[in-house]
Amino acid sequence: MKTAKYPVRKRNCKTCPWLEGQAEEWACLKPMLMDRALHSTPLCHSTGKALTRHNGERLKAHVCRGARDFQLELWYRMGFLSAPTDEAWDAKLQEIEEEEHGRTDDQR
Ligand code: SF4
Repeated sequence: MKTAKYPVRKRNCKTCPWLEGQAEEWACLKPMLMDRALHSTPLCHSTGKALTRHNGERLKAHVCRGARDFQLELWYRMGFLSAPTDEAWDAKLQEIEEEEHGRTDDQR
């Protein structure tokens, strides 16, 4: 399994389709984002590599907060994570990496 560790947004963006009560013009994107989150880790319109602030500052790509919260809840309910938190996900990544290293060491 290939894992990558992107920084995750600390909070949802103001226009986030995942927020309760969001305006329909943004909320209508949520089903599409949910579908994406089931297949990969989304970098949304507000977090992607192309994002540049109006002062010209380029921001690093981040994992979407709304999508990650959805994934955390799903993975927790499936029993893959011990809790629906970033810390539990970090621990799972560590476990996966250690398993992969162990496998690599055993194959030597
Ligand atoms: S990047 Fe994620 S948190 Fe931000 S608006 Fe897009 S869906 Fe919401």
